[in-house]
Amino acid sequence: MDVPGVPPGVEVRTSARRRRTVTAYRERGRTVVLVPARMPRAQILGYVQELVGRLEARERRASRSDADLQDRAAELSRRYLPGGPLPASVRWVDNQERRWGSCTPLDASIRLSSRLQQMPRHVIDYVLLHELAHLQVAGHGPDFHALLTGYPKLAEAQAFLAGVDHAILHGLTGVVASSPEAPPQEPEPSRAVPSAPRPAVAPRADAPPPEPATLW
Ligand SMILES: [Zn+2]
Repeated sequence: MDVPGVPPGVEVRTSARRRRTVTAYRERGRTVVLVPARMPRAQILGYVQELVGRLEARERRASRSDADLQDRAAELSRRYLPGGPLPASVRWVDNQERRWGSCTPLDASIRLSSRLQQMPRHVIDYVLLHELAHLQVAGHGPDFHALLTGYPKLAEAQAFLAGVDHAILHGLTGVVASSPEAPPQEPEPSRAVPSAPRPAVAPRADAPPPEPATLW
C-alpha cells in the first residue's frame, strides 16, 4: 500500500490475518513492513519508522567485517588444520541463498553466506573451517573429514545447520526467519499495537519460505 513519507525501498503490506503486531523484515533487498489491515493510516508511518530503525540497528550490531573473518580464518586454520592453510580472501556474500559457504581452491578464495551472521559463533567457525579444509582437500571423502576432527564442536555445529535446513525445508518459519537477510535467532523487530491485550512475537506465516542452504 502507498503510505506518504515511507522511505524508498520500504514496502508496506497489510495483512488481514495480522491483528496485533507490526513486523519489519528484509526480503530480496527490500524492506517489508507488515501491518494489520485495520490499522489507521495515520499510525502506520510512525510504526514503519520505528521498526525500520530497529532493523537497521540490529543489522549494524550483527555485521561482522570481512577483515574480522580473515583474522578468524587464520586463527582457526592455525589451531585446527595441519599446515594451517591461509585463504587469499574471505568475505561475506549476500547472494548465496543455497549455500552456507563456498571455496574456490584455484584462487584460494572463500565466501560465507551473510545468513550465517546471526548464528552461534561455533556454527560460523565450523563453516569457515570446513571451507578452509577445502583449500587442502576437495570433496567430502574420508580424508576431508579427517581434517575436521580436531574441531571440538563439529557434531554440534553440523546438527545445528541440519536443524536449520530441516526447519527451512518444512516451512517452520516461526522457528527460522525466512528471508536470507533475516536472522534465525531473534524475531524480527515487531511491536504490539497499543490496543493489544498481550504482546505477540510475530509469526512469519505471511512471508514466503526461503530456500534451504547447503554446505559445499
Ligand atoms: Zn564442503
